Amino acid sequence: MNAAPHDSWEPATWLAREGVLLAAYAMHSADSAGRKYPEPEHPYRGPFQRDRDRIVHAAAFRRLSSKTQVFTGGLDDYHRTRLTHTLEVASVSRTIGRTLRLNEDLIEALALVHDLGHPPYGHAGEDVLDECLRGEGGFSHNRQGLRIVEEVEHRYPDFPGLNLSLEVLEGQTARTGTWSVNRRPLVEAQVVEAADSIAYDTHDADDALKLELLTLDELLTVPLWSEAKRRVDRHHAGLTESELKRAVLHELLDWQVSDVVERARRRLADPALSSVEAVRAAEPIITASPELAQQKLELEKFLRSRVYRHPQVLVLRARVQQQLREMFAGYLARPELLPPHFAARVARHGLRRTIGDYLAGMTDRYAEQEYERLFAQQGS
Ligand code: MG
Repeated sequence: MNAAPHDSWEPATWLAREGVLLAAYAMHSADSAGRKYPEPEHPYRGPFQRDRDRIVHAAAFRRLSSKTQVFTGGLDDYHRTRLTHTLEVASVSRTIGRTLRLNEDLIEALALVHDLGHPPYGHAGEDVLDECLRGEGGFSHNRQGLRIVEEVEHRYPDFPGLNLSLEVLEGQTARTGTWSVNRRPLVEAQVVEAADSIAYDTHDADDALKLELLTLDELLTVPLWSEAKRRVDRHHAGLTESELKRAVLHELLDWQVSDVVERARRRLADPALSSVEAVRAAEPIITASPELAQQKLELEKFLRSRVYRHPQVLVLRARVQQQLREMFAGYLARPELLPPHFAARVARHGLRRTIGDYLAGMTDRYAEQEYERLFAQQGS
């Protein structure tokens, strides 16, 4: 048998690469605290690169393609899914990370994992599972993301979950609100947090326009949009409505990203912030300017009242929530309906949490199908 081709590779090329490319305040792979279950280093992939690959190959990641972002299925095919949102967050995060000389592999892993725990039907589904699991500590998509990568996924014979680097787990834990002011999330994690907000503020409005839940004129009454239009008007005149919409969306993304990058650059020029420990102890580095943050809040308020609570969205929300409630009660009454690999988890995790894990893993489409197959006829 021939030797594997990578036997002759220079060890740890990624180490040398990071030494050249990353700033002193970035999380260097060589300083990683490692994994819960120790594993030998890969000959030519750095630890965060491996994390990224493990996430992409996870079943929960593939299922993001059939999970709702905001607009529960049945409205149309244009709007974002959790997968396309996740890729947009990864794309924006990497732009910010590369500009600031941060660890892009870690950023990408954090971005790709950030919404892994979403149940079917977005926040509508999350609210139902939280209600059904109230006596067991409740349910949140951020905590579920951790459960998935720590123990629900089964891909490797030697350990449960994906055995991701501790920095990736820590970044996802920070999303549940667990961190201290002396030890804030890594700048890489702060970048993903900001990119998530930039992506959904921009894209939820775009999706709502496409679904005709809003008009462009209505959106242009919101300060963030009217300011973005003023910026577009400086360079373009006589645009059609759809050209204007696209130009404003592009401007919104570019403006928000530049704002965050410029502020971070100024902060990170401070020689006192030249280590990971120093940036962790400092005030948050990746933040929007106060004016932009205020305008984003106003947009979010507008979207909440006009889009997330739009009658058409609320009707769908009520329908899918009722289905999910019936499914939870249905599996509780008849646990034998659980697939064997979930039934096997009941002894260790309890029936309610196991049902929660099973339902949370479903795509919108699969939840709909299973509801029809197992429960719908019994309820009518
Ligand atoms: Mg997100």
